[in-house]
Amino acid sequence: MKHRHSTDTELWCGACKTMHPRSAFGKDKKSPNGIAYACKAIVTKRNRAMHTKNKTANNARHSKLRAARKASSEHITWALKRLLSDAKQRALSYSRHTTGRQ
Ligand SMILES: [Zn+2]
Repeated sequence: MKHRHSTDTELWCGACKTMHPRSAFGKDKKSPNGIAYACKAIVTKRNRAMHTKNKTANNARHSKLRAARKASSEHITWALKRLLSDAKQRALSYSRHTTGRQ
């Protein structure tokens, strides 16, 4: 193994299997030296991939929840509440518009 020959200016990137300048690395509180084991480019890419993956999972969960809410009797209450608050908002903005104009 000839990796981990970190110098003052360069660090080994565990993901690219090559050396990068220290500036290419982000911080990582969990790592022993406080520096991420992979360069920022990899971490960013990985985070984005994770996010996309979670987004799919989250969307699936949300649509399931939405379906459950629609199916339940609470849906009516919930819809009425929203209708009421919408109407209230409209009434408020309407009175705000009319008063002060005369
Ligand atoms: Zn790298």
